[in-house]
Amino acid sequence: MKILKFGGTSVGSAENINKVISILEQQSKDTNIAVVVSAVGGITDKLLEAANLACNKDLEYKQTYNAIWSQHSKVIEGLFENSDHDKNLKKSHEALYDLISEKLNELKSLLDGIYLINELSPKTKDKLLSFGEALSSTIIYHTLKSRQVDVAYKNAQELIVTDSNFNNATVNFEITNINIQLYFNSNSNAIVLLPGFVSKSVHGEITTLGRGGSDYTAAIIAAAIDADELQIWTDVSGMYTTNPKLVKQAAPIVELSYQEAVELSHFGAKVLYPPTVMPVLKKKIPIVIKNTLDPEALGTTITENTQPNGSPVKGISNIENIALLTLQGNGMVGVPGFGKRLFETLAQEKINIVLITQSSSEHSICFGISDNDAKRAKEVIDTVFEYEIQLLKIDPIIVETDLSIIAVIGDKMKNHQGISGKMFSTLGKNNVNIRAIAQGASERNISAIIHKNDVKKALNSLHEQFFEIKTKQINLFITGVGNVGERLIEQIHQQKSYLKENFKISLKIAGLSNSRTMVVNDDGINLKHWKQQLENGEKASLKGFLNHVKKLNLRNSVFVDITANDAVANIYGDYLKHSISVVACNKIACSGNIEYYNELKILSRQYNAAFLFETNVGAGLPVIDTLNHLVTSGDKINTIQAVLSGSLNFIFNNFNAETTFYDVVKQAQEEGYTEPDPRIDLSGIDVARKVLILARESGHALELSDLESDNFLTNDAMEAASVEDFFKTLIKDETYYQSLFKSAEDKNCQLKFVAEFNNGKAKVGLQEIPEGHPFYNLKGKDNIVMFYTQRYPEQPMIIKGAGAGADVTASGLFADIIRIANN
Ligand code: ADP
Ligand code: ASP
Ligand code: MG
Repeated sequence: MKILKFGGTSVGSAENINKVISILEQQSKDTNIAVVVSAVGGITDKLLEAANLACNKDLEYKQTYNAIWSQHSKVIEGLFENSDHDKNLKKSHEALYDLISEKLNELKSLLDGIYLINELSPKTKDKLLSFGEALSSTIIYHTLKSRQVDVAYKNAQELIVTDSNFNNATVNFEITNINIQLYFNSNSNAIVLLPGFVSKSVHGEITTLGRGGSDYTAAIIAAAIDADELQIWTDVSGMYTTNPKLVKQAAPIVELSYQEAVELSHFGAKVLYPPTVMPVLKKKIPIVIKNTLDPEALGTTITENTQPNGSPVKGISNIENIALLTLQGNGMVGVPGFGKRLFETLAQEKINIVLITQSSSEHSICFGISDNDAKRAKEVIDTVFEYEIQLLKIDPIIVETDLSIIAVIGDKMKNHQGISGKMFSTLGKNNVNIRAIAQGASERNISAIIHKNDVKKALNSLHEQFFEIKTKQINLFITGVGNVGERLIEQIHQQKSYLKENFKISLKIAGLSNSRTMVVNDDGINLKHWKQQLENGEKASLKGFLNHVKKLNLRNSVFVDITANDAVANIYGDYLKHSISVVACNKIACSGNIEYYNELKILSRQYNAAFLFETNVGAGLPVIDTLNHLVTSGDKINTIQAVLSGSLNFIFNNFNAETTFYDVVKQAQEEGYTEPDPRIDLSGIDVARKVLILARESGHALELSDLESDNFLTNDAMEAASVEDFFKTLIKDETYYQSLFKSAEDKNCQLKFVAEFNNGKAKVGLQEIPEGHPFYNLKGKDNIVMFYTQRYPEQPMIIKGAGAGADVTASGLFADIIRIANN
C-alpha cells in the first residue's frame, strides 16, 4: 500500500484536482492507496484571517468568508462543468453543492459566534481550521465518486488521537496506530480519501497538528500500516538545493537521507513539515516528494542511506522572523546553573529555541527564537534573573529582531574540511554580517544568524559557492549611457554567453541610469530593449540609484561610472562602504583631492570591494594594470614619459606650414576629437590629470597643483570669454603658432604634447621630438606610455595603441569588470 498526500496547490483549482485524479487512477492500478489532502490552497490562511477579523469586531470578516465561498464554488463548477449534459453527473453536482453549502453555513455560524463573543480560543481556532480540509476532501471524494472511482472516505479525526494542545497537538501513537490499523485492515477499496491536518483529542475535541500538518497525517498513516512508500505531492519537483522562490538556480535534490531531510525541513524548507520524517524513519519507509504539476519529473527520494554524490553539502535552508537574545554578565562566569534556569524558564513558557551558542568564556549565552516570542521571552527572563540584574551580575537580556537563520546541511560534511570556512568567507566576501553561529557536533548542519535583508543575497552566494561553484554572477549598475556606455552594453550583450560557457562568468546588467531617468531590475534588464526601459524608467537621482542598489543587495554588485560628473565621483565612497565595487571611467575621483583618492583606496580594501579605473589613462590600453603589476611585484618606477592625448596628437599631426592652426583646431572640434571648448584639451589639463594618476599609482602623493604645466596657448586664447572669441585669437596669433611648428621643423623634429614623471615630479608640455624617438612616428589617436623602472632601466617598457574612442574605452571598462569577476 502507498500513501499519497496532496498539498494546497495540488487541490487549489479544478484543473489541478483533475491532475490529482489522473495520478490517483494511475497509481491505484498497482496497489491500494490512501490519499491525504490539504485544504484548497490559501484557505487555511483565509480561515484564520476571517476569525481574527471577527474576533476584533471587524465586519470585514464577512468579505473573507465570501471569498472562501467563491473559491470553493469555483472549484466545484470547474470539476462539474459538463454536468448539464449528464443526468447522473448533474445529481452528484447538486448533492455536492448542497453538502458544501451546509458546511459553509456552519462555518458562518461559527464566525458570527466569534464576532459576537469577541473571543477566539485555541480550541475554537482548531474547530475553525478543520473546515479547510473537511471542504476540500468532501469535494474530491464526491468528484471521484461521480467518476465511478472505487473510493471510500474516512475522516482522519476518527483515527488520529492527540492531547489537548490545540493548534499543535501531540499524537498519541498507541491509540492512533491501532485505530488506523483496524480501519485499513477492514477496508478493501482501491482508494481511501482522508482530510489531512485534523485530529481529535482523547476528550473528543477537534485538534490540529500544526501548520503544514497534512504531511504529518500522511506519515502517521504510512507508519501505522507499514506502507511501501509515502508520496508528498506538491507544487515543486522535490526538495530543492535551496528555496526555489529565492534562488532561481536552485535544483531538485535527487536523493536525501532522513536526517538531511529533517535538518533541511527544520531549518525552513517548507516543502516538508518537519515532524513528517520521524514516524516513517522508524519503519524505513521511503518518502518521495513529487510535483503534481509535472508528474514526470523525478522528484526527491528520502531514504536511510543515500549514494554519495559530488557535493558534501546537500542543501541550504533558511528560517525567517528570528530574534536573537543574549544573556551576558561577569556574574555568569564559572557559576553553574544559569543555563538551566534560563532554558527551564523558556520551556515553561513553551518558547521554542531554534539555535544556541555559548562563548567559551561562559560570559554570555546567545539563542535564537521566533520573533513572535521575543517580547514574552524578555519579560520572563528579566523577571527570573531580577535579583542578579539588580546586583549587576548580569545585564538585562538583549533582544535583536528582524533576523533570519541560514543553514548549510549535509550528512557528509563531517568528512570534509573547510566547509564552514567556505561558508563564512563567502558570506564575508558578500558583506553579509553574521550575528551568531552554531554547528552541531554531528557536523550535519552549520547555521548562522544574519539580518533578514541579507537572506536572499546569502542564499544566492552560498548556492553559487556550493552548487554552481563554477559560475559567478556579476551584477552591474551602469550610470552614464552615452557613446561609451552604449558600446559597453553592446559588448556585454554580445559576450554574455561566451563568458558564461567558457569562463563561468554570468554578467547581468541590473541597473541603468543617465542624467534623466533610471531603471533597476533584479532579474536583469533585457539588453535588447534597454533604451525603452531606461526611457520609461523613474526620474534619475544619484541617491535614488544608490538606494536601489543597496536595497536589491545583490552579490558581486559593481557600480560603473561612465560620466564626467563631479557629483557621481563623490558618491563612490557610499558604494564601496556597502561592498559594491566601483569601476570608473570618470577621472575626477582619482585626479582630484588626494585625500578622497586615498580614502577610496582604503574603503576598497576595508570593504573588500574593487575600485578600478583603467580607462582613466589611455582608454582601453592596459596602462594602470601594468603599472600596478610592476609596483606590486616590487619594481620601482623612475620615469614615465607619455603622450596621452588623442586630440592633441590629431592637431599636431595635421598642423604644418600648409595648414593654419585655426583650421586644424576647428576640424578637430567639429570631428569630435576635442571637447566643445578645445581649450580643455589644448591647455593640457586632461593630460595633467592622467599623468597625476600614474604618479599616484606609482606611490607618489602628488596634487594637480604640484604639476608643472607648460601651456603653449597665448594668454589671449586662455582668457577669451567664449569659444568663439578663443577661435578669433587663433586667427590673430597664427604667426606665433607657425613659429612653434617652424622651430620644430628646422630641427627635423615633431611637435608632441608630452607628459613626464621623473623623480617624484610631474610636468606636461609641448616638446620638439627628434627623429628616431619612439614618440616621433605616433599616428592618429594613438597614445604611448614608456615606463623606466629599476628592472627596465635603459629600454623602457612601452605600451602603445589607440588611446581614445568609444569602442576601446568600453573594452577597457569591460576589462575592469572581468578583473572583478576573476578576483
Ligand atoms: P503544499 O501546499 O504542497 O504542502 P508547501 O507550500 O507547504 O506546499 O511547500 C512547497 C513550497 O515550499 C514550495 O512552493 C517552495 O516555495 C517552498 N520551499 C522552501 N524551501 C524549499 C526547498 N528547499 N525545496 C522545495 N521547496 C521549498
Ligand atoms: N491546511 C493546513 C495548512 O495550511 C495544513 C496543510 O496544508 O498541510 O497549514
Ligand atoms: Mg506543506
